[in-house]
Amino acid sequence: MRRKLIAGNWKMNGSLAANAALLSEIKGAAGQPACDVAVCVPAPYLSQCQSLLEGSAIRWGGQDASLHESGAYTGEVSCSMLADFACGYVIVGHSERRTYHGETDELVAGKAVRALKSGIAPIVCVGESLEQREAGKTDEVVGAQIDAVLAVLSAEEIAGIVVAYEPVWAIGTGRTATPQMAQDVHAMLRAKLRAKNPAAADAVKILYGGSMKPDNAADLLAMADIDGGLIGGASLKAADFLAIIRAA
Ligand code: PGA
Repeated sequence: MRRKLIAGNWKMNGSLAANAALLSEIKGAAGQPACDVAVCVPAPYLSQCQSLLEGSAIRWGGQDASLHESGAYTGEVSCSMLADFACGYVIVGHSERRTYHGETDELVAGKAVRALKSGIAPIVCVGESLEQREAGKTDEVVGAQIDAVLAVLSAEEIAGIVVAYEPVWAIGTGRTATPQMAQDVHAMLRAKLRAKNPAAADAVKILYGGSMKPDNAADLLAMADIDGGLIGGASLKAADFLAIIRAA
């Protein structure tokens, strides 16, 4: 039985004051949750998360990282810097990075490798656009995105990743995939993992993301291959995030 993971993706939101209030409410109410819990925050707030969350059941992580280890890459943050702040996770290949920053499947795969080398679990995001879904290309697009990552990882390394299926049309739109739609893609993703490493496939968590909220979380999380959620908007409201944690 896989333990579920509820990970917040704050995106470019927050302030020292707002984060302190949000984290203290979540930490206070979550106690010892039945699932793994993490918040992926803007890099400047990692130190704040570390000091507020260390010793609690809540982990923290980054939202992106550089492909490179160090050097002349102005504005970038390396995985070893994230490791300096004890990050457990880093999101790679979020659709907003793919869309606004031109990130390719190969770049995302390279970032996943870099994260693993720094001892951080990459949360590898995959997902199709509405146009691609309507053209019947979901499996082809999502399959190619995960294949690019699996191609550069060893069988052992696969055990260290988290996958997040996030249909682009469901992100921030209030439109969610039905539990069955999500489950179908998750099962396809698990089959790809199984082909590469049968033992690890059953242990790797595959999260769903895209307008997961308190009122739809339980139905999504009840599906056989949905092992948690990557939560955007609802992770910024303590009551909503806590309700999703309780549903897991
Ligand atoms: P959302 O975002 O929950 O606001 O749809 C999810 C994500 O982009 O990770």
